[in-house]
Amino acid sequence: MTIIPLDRAHTANGAGGGQPVLAARGLTKHFPVHAHRSPRGAVVHAVEDVTLALPSAGITAVVGESGSGKSTLARLLAQLIKPTAGTVLLDGAAVPGRQRYARQVQLVLQDPFSSLNPVHNVRYHLARPLRVHGLASGASLDAQIAELLGRVALTPADQFAVKYPHELSGGQRQRVAIARALAMRPRVLLADEPVSMLDVSIRLGVLNLLAGLREREGLAILYVTHDIASARYLSDVIAVMYAGQIIESGPAAQVTDAPAHPYTQLLLSAAPDPDRAQPPSLRGRGAPPNLIRPPAGCRFHPRCPFAMTVCAEERPMAIEVAPGHSSACWLHAPGLTAAQSRPLTGPALTGPALNEPTSAPGDLAPQETHRPQGPGEEKR
Ligand code: SF4
Repeated sequence: MTIIPLDRAHTANGAGGGQPVLAARGLTKHFPVHAHRSPRGAVVHAVEDVTLALPSAGITAVVGESGSGKSTLARLLAQLIKPTAGTVLLDGAAVPGRQRYARQVQLVLQDPFSSLNPVHNVRYHLARPLRVHGLASGASLDAQIAELLGRVALTPADQFAVKYPHELSGGQRQRVAIARALAMRPRVLLADEPVSMLDVSIRLGVLNLLAGLREREGLAILYVTHDIASARYLSDVIAVMYAGQIIESGPAAQVTDAPAHPYTQLLLSAAPDPDRAQPPSLRGRGAPPNLIRPPAGCRFHPRCPFAMTVCAEERPMAIEVAPGHSSACWLHAPGLTAAQSRPLTGPALTGPALNEPTSAPGDLAPQETHRPQGPGEEKR
């Protein structure tokens, strides 16, 4: 077992491809809290010390429940918000000017209906970035729009170009949003829950479109999702986020077949599985923590069925449990003393079971009952 320095931990280079195009080093985002009763200087610790690399021609999934910080991470990588600490590197160098960066790194949002202007047609949405960035004009504009629509399988292009967002299905709208991102000829696509608002029957088509873009065009793709089944289907590498931190990462098949971190194990055991005859035996407790005052030590310790004394005191380092597969958990650390490894008990460990149905806000179980089963059944 190897303890990985933080600047190398969770670097998604295990199975995806070549050199990282985009990398985050120690990325941290704290949002100030202005609520009436909040203590002065209080902040929400939304993203904490995240190190991640997106290789060219690779898909990296960031998986976590609502509020885990995965969408904030995507916005930090898109440079839509400024980090509190840490850096984003493009091709190993500091981020160039805003316009040059936007050409190379594009974000696709969760809701295609709100990301498209309802008073403009598809042609307008695709022509605008091409014109603004001087990538096409005049006669070449229509040819490029047709080519973009062809790349996202919206053909015949001339019929789709004149449609308005309300005339398209959810899947077609998301394809237009992806085509608009592709208009900039980016090298990195950040897809923030791109299929979670789509009908289950059309999710697979959009996932396969992203897979095709990776294979044919060598794009580096970040796939943000709460659905670990679709992450396994689509991605090369999975990074699991909990309470703003990446707690496990590695090759997608390995993370889902042999999860090393108790949170990932609970995430998988909470997911419906038609082949599972018995109810899952692993049970955690409680709800996601308050990120204004996150728990000390391991942020998962109030819910963890294996929590030890050391877990409440010190943050666990990322430890390599298999080649390219790391987990930030004290269970993997050698040489703990008897006092450190004493089981932790207390009121935090007596809430509703993590994988029991409950209506508690932010609870894992109801969220996972809505996940699609189809795409995740088999790895391509
Ligand atoms: Fe559980 Fe401790 Fe591991 Fe955290 S570090 S996941 S509390 S065993």
